[in-house]
Amino acid sequence: MTVTLQWCVACGGERDFDQPLCGDGHGSECPEWFCLACGNAVVLACSDEVPAAA
Ligand SMILES: [Zn+2]
Ligand SMILES: [Zn+2]
Repeated sequence: MTVTLQWCVACGGERDFDQPLCGDGHGSECPEWFCLACGNAVVLACSDEVPAAA
């Protein structure tokens, strides 16, 4: 199971995110993640693209 630490807007903090079973054939490249704490789903299109700090 792949878990990554991401910012959850619903929790208002960093939470562990896991990937749901992908039905679109994305496999491990699936951009869909959900918060393990609250279940909020997010789509990380470019997870390696870090936005510059404002
Ligand atoms: Zn959350
Ligand atoms: Zn997918």
